[in-house]
Amino acid sequence: MSFSVIGGINGLTKIGDIYMIKTVMPFPLRENNCFLAESEDGWCVIDTGVNIQQNKEIWQKALKYLGISFKHIKNILLTHYHHDHMGLAGWMQELSGAKVLLPKEDIITFTTYITGNYYEEVRQDCFQAGWSDMLTHDLVADVHSIEILVRPFPEITELPDNYTFDFGGTTFTCLPLPGHTDGHVVLYSRQKRLLLSGDNIVPHTILHLTDWPHTRLTDPLNTHLAGLDVLSGFPVVSIIPGHGDVFNNLEERIGIIKKHHMRRKEVVYAGIKDGFTAWDLTAALFKESNYIHIKRLLLAETLAYLEALNEEGLVKKDICGNSFVYKRISTDLNFNFMDKLAVSNPS
Ligand SMILES: [Zn+2]
Repeated sequence: MSFSVIGGINGLTKIGDIYMIKTVMPFPLRENNCFLAESEDGWCVIDTGVNIQQNKEIWQKALKYLGISFKHIKNILLTHYHHDHMGLAGWMQELSGAKVLLPKEDIITFTTYITGNYYEEVRQDCFQAGWSDMLTHDLVADVHSIEILVRPFPEITELPDNYTFDFGGTTFTCLPLPGHTDGHVVLYSRQKRLLLSGDNIVPHTILHLTDWPHTRLTDPLNTHLAGLDVLSGFPVVSIIPGHGDVFNNLEERIGIIKKHHMRRKEVVYAGIKDGFTAWDLTAALFKESNYIHIKRLLLAETLAYLEALNEEGLVKKDICGNSFVYKRISTDLNFNFMDKLAVSNPS
């Protein structure tokens, strides 16, 4: 796979016949990857970046360099609904008239939480996880403050199941790998052994495996791990992620991610005290952050481990007032999930 930097334009590179455009974002990940290629059906964009002026200029410069206008863009495909992927889709649709394709489960999430009554939708889940009304309101305010990075909202078309399309002369199939969001898709080309992995797997960090409280998955951890098992069977040469650089050590990355989650699951399992809510446990185990978004991610991950432990019959979950409380069924604190991983996944 040839990989070259296009002279003069910051953040524009070419991978085969696919242009990769690095857009910027005012969050810890700092930048994310968007893609543009010519297809049988006109030009196609995959993911767009957050809606800030700097990113609009990055797109304008890239199109100018390629000698095309927004009118040449016929399809905008989104791997998932998060603002760093969907943010400029509405703006780009207004300029191009392009179709904006989003996986069905993410259309449900987007219409429920982003264009719906957010507080009403998340209130019960937040209380059940042990959050106060104040923390829940902090989350509502935070989500509303981010919403501006996605406006104007695009008119959305449902991405068909197993959608197969031409992108830069390569045939890609969209495969659902839920976890990061309920509808998240990766794009796979068997022919070129190429994977556009979105936020499912990236080279330099481990992104959140669950979109709580914006999820309808009952066991996000095992759903995510099953998705990684699907990927590990692919004969992939290059992985082009939603954040970070192109990488090729897929098996190694999957191994690292699985071990990370098993270690965290052990920590969560050992940290449970009778009557703890998910938030009690999160606060006891992890360094507190003042930022509600980080509180949300830490709680989301703890909940994912607790739900997996509950599904596996190792932890019991009971309702107490508005909240769920957890207790360990066994007195053995040193349950080794690593060994379990080794047995279930001998490779
Ligand atoms: Zn992202």
